[in-house]
Amino acid sequence: MLLDQTDRAIKTQLQNIITQDIWRLREMKKDFERISEDLESAVFKNGQVSRHRIQEAEECSHILVATLKCFRHIALDYILQLNSFAIDGKFKIINTMLSYLNAENTFFHQGYDLITDLDPLMKNMSVQMDQIATNLIVQQKDMERKQMTTQQQENVANIGTEFLSKAPPGIAIEGYLFKRAARSSKTWNRSWFTIQNNQLVYQKHWKVSQEEAVPLMEDLRLCSVRPLDDLERRFCFEVFSVRTSCVLQADTESMREAWIRAIESSIHSAYRVSQDPDNDSQCSKVSAPSVGRECPPEGPSVLQQVLRLPGNERCCDCGRADPRWASINLGITLCIECSGIHRGLGVHHSKVRSLTLDSWEPELLKLFCALGNVANNHIYEAGRDVTGVNKVTAESSRQQKEQWIKAKYVEKRFLKELPSPASCTDGTGTFTDQSERSLTVSQDLCLFRAASVGDLPVMCAALAHGANVNWTNSEDMRRTPLIAAAEVGSLTACEFLLQNGANVNYRDARGQGAIHIATRAGHTGPVCLLLKRGANQYAADETGQDPLSIAVATANADIVTLLRLARMNEEMREGEPFFWHTGDDETFQDIFRDFSRMASDDPEKLARRRFECSGAEK
Ligand code: ZN
Repeated sequence: MLLDQTDRAIKTQLQNIITQDIWRLREMKKDFERISEDLESAVFKNGQVSRHRIQEAEECSHILVATLKCFRHIALDYILQLNSFAIDGKFKIINTMLSYLNAENTFFHQGYDLITDLDPLMKNMSVQMDQIATNLIVQQKDMERKQMTTQQQENVANIGTEFLSKAPPGIAIEGYLFKRAARSSKTWNRSWFTIQNNQLVYQKHWKVSQEEAVPLMEDLRLCSVRPLDDLERRFCFEVFSVRTSCVLQADTESMREAWIRAIESSIHSAYRVSQDPDNDSQCSKVSAPSVGRECPPEGPSVLQQVLRLPGNERCCDCGRADPRWASINLGITLCIECSGIHRGLGVHHSKVRSLTLDSWEPELLKLFCALGNVANNHIYEAGRDVTGVNKVTAESSRQQKEQWIKAKYVEKRFLKELPSPASCTDGTGTFTDQSERSLTVSQDLCLFRAASVGDLPVMCAALAHGANVNWTNSEDMRRTPLIAAAEVGSLTACEFLLQNGANVNYRDARGQGAIHIATRAGHTGPVCLLLKRGANQYAADETGQDPLSIAVATANADIVTLLRLARMNEEMREGEPFFWHTGDDETFQDIFRDFSRMASDDPEKLARRRFECSGAEK
């Protein structure tokens, strides 16, 4: 608009002056010059005329006068026009300049108006900018402080744990872990792991939506976790159930501990949820199929088999009906409340399992059925009458039950007397007063002798009285109770000792472990059990024989098959204990489970097979 107005105000006006006014003046100047020449010639003629020629002189005088008149007229007119232009032109030029200044004025005025309209907004913004500037300074100082704090944390191992504890509500823990691929122990993938709703799930990246998370462990109630320190890589741990296993790796030791703690507490909190009376029956129903998978399909459920034993239909400690839990090393059934108290004692005192949620291997079930509440109370409550303490009931408070259970299993206040070593062999001996040291030895010896005949109640009593499960008998080639049990082929005695902390790989004075002894004696069931519990089948005894060469030499086809299967599986796993990797090796696991079940349920069949196969090896 300014340019347009300037163009019109200045250029057009000036062009008008040049093309019209000045052109007119130029025309008038030509007229003036012409009349000037006429006047000059009239003056010359008038001057040249002779006085004697009167008529001619008079004519010249007339012409001169007329021409002079005309000259004056034109000259005046020309001067008028010149003066007029001088005044009018100035006016026009100054007026043009004024218009131009007006245009400029309008332009800037409009700009000013527009800017003035923005004034409140600008004031508002400047207030906001002040606030932002203040905030920025505060933030910058905060960031500097955080950086200082982080730098001050010298312990590098602590990196990340702070972050782990800040998981959002509903999520126990979350973060990145390396996960070893199921099929290749050399491949480790980094994924984002989360524990929520009793599940361990993972996804490729944190930003991916939760829908893409894949469950790694579908029900943590059926899982355990343990640190793995025998791998090439550091900070590893394993989450496993009976059916599957997964090796994970944290970035630091403290993060590994945080993960293991979180998984353990998730397992425990999952149990607490299922201990809610309203939830209990529901859980049993929901989990029934998974238990069914582990049991012989044709047989009764674990719960039915265990409760069938007289005395097991009520909680061993408080007598509440319909127990749903068990302590597997003590061989007793428990109500929900007492099972919680037992769990609090620690696994060295009591290993609690669910009769409905957990899977039960056949040898464990068999062991369980060999003990039971009656046999257990016969040992742990035998001396109660003497103390005068009343047994708790289902109606007792939790505190009373806690006191009772602690007194019974930890302080062992209600034990009566130990069957003397003699009683373990002839059953007639009585307890005699001995020094503490010899008393301990006799308990150990009692356990050893009971193990060598597979007498579970006496073994249980010996352990209750403090026998060392890994005691070595110097009079019998430094063998342990487990080796003694393996020699007689007592599956339940082996299982009982292993559940109570027996070292599966201890070897006697001849370099023979329980697996060598069981193999030499041809006890397939115990060999199977020992393999499952991590017995080293590559260890050679003093004659250089490993279990496989012993089995080949004694022509036991079943044991040879078992050992070779385990070896094959182990080689496939590159030295990892095979029984943790059941997830992707169903065939091997099925065969192994069949052996295990047969050895437990139908030992005669195995004995027959051995007889039939004898001599057929090689
Ligand atoms: Zn109870």
